[in-house]
Amino acid sequence: MCEACPTLLDKLLHKGLLVETGIDGLYGRSGLFEQVIDGFDRLISRTGADQKAEVLRFPPGMNRVLFEKSGYLKSFPQLAGTVHSFGGNDKDHAVLLDRLAEGQPWWDKQEMTDIVLTPAACYPLYPTAAKRGPLPEDGLIFDLNSYCFRHEPSKEPTRQQMFRMREYVRIGTPDQVVAFRKNWLERGQALIAKLGLPFNVDVANDPFFGRAGRVMASSQRDLGLKFELLVPVNSEENPTACLSFNYHQDHFGSTWNIRTAAGETAHTACVGFGMERVAIALFRHHGLDVDKWPAEVRDALSL
Ligand code: ATP
Ligand code: ZN
Repeated sequence: MCEACPTLLDKLLHKGLLVETGIDGLYGRSGLFEQVIDGFDRLISRTGADQKAEVLRFPPGMNRVLFEKSGYLKSFPQLAGTVHSFGGNDKDHAVLLDRLAEGQPWWDKQEMTDIVLTPAACYPLYPTAAKRGPLPEDGLIFDLNSYCFRHEPSKEPTRQQMFRMREYVRIGTPDQVVAFRKNWLERGQALIAKLGLPFNVDVANDPFFGRAGRVMASSQRDLGLKFELLVPVNSEENPTACLSFNYHQDHFGSTWNIRTAAGETAHTACVGFGMERVAIALFRHHGLDVDKWPAEVRDALSL
């Protein structure tokens, strides 16, 4: 380890695993870092292969109108990111260039586009699934992976503003969805144990905004709707959520009018894997030199 690097972020940057951009939480990744991510991605696929999930990949931006309807702005306005672009004429362009040259704000010359940044891999899925009509008897299961954006700048390398989230999402009856989440609570722990990482599982809540948000967060905890698999990475006291197991009840089913085969409002659940978080946890616990990682861990990741 580098003596002159006081923090985990410094160590990862110094070793070139992450590449600085001048913005907290926005990093480039080295080839080796990506090999670890790819190995973990394949391990997830092997672990979930029996589910025969339908693979869908969306770009890291989603339809703004669908995003508005999803309710994200009600719960997490502080995290959302929107895409803006220039829509003016020659005169506006000249003003924009003058402002730039003077170091003045220029962004009032921009307009919001029809695209927002994807906040979680599953957000573009629900309206897509809803369009297919009532669910089959067995419900549906999807395999997703997306770069996600959350406006939460931090010096902790595990809290990034643009990061990848792999997800399995189950849509079906309450029984189907609850069974899926129970199953993944177990599989997720076995998977992280295989990687030689210390962990514990605990009930959790999402960072709902404002005063109303506090009520939502405590009800989410009371109902046991969110669990996290936590690995100590930055500190022992505040371990990092590397996997989450979320039961949304009928929240997305009723928002998007997704119906079961019997015509009831569908329930949904997802298991989310924080790809960068797991990779960084591996570097933190097994060292920055992948060649020296335990053989079982290298095997599991096909490294
Ligand atoms: P936290 O409580 O740490 O903010 P979260 O519970 O909001 O995380 P989810 O919304 O459940 O996270 O997202 C699914 C997974 O995505 C998390 O388990 C985590 O591994 C990963 N993740 C979430 N936010 C970030 C981030 N800012 N940087 C990197 N990974 C993240
Ligand atoms: Zn999800």
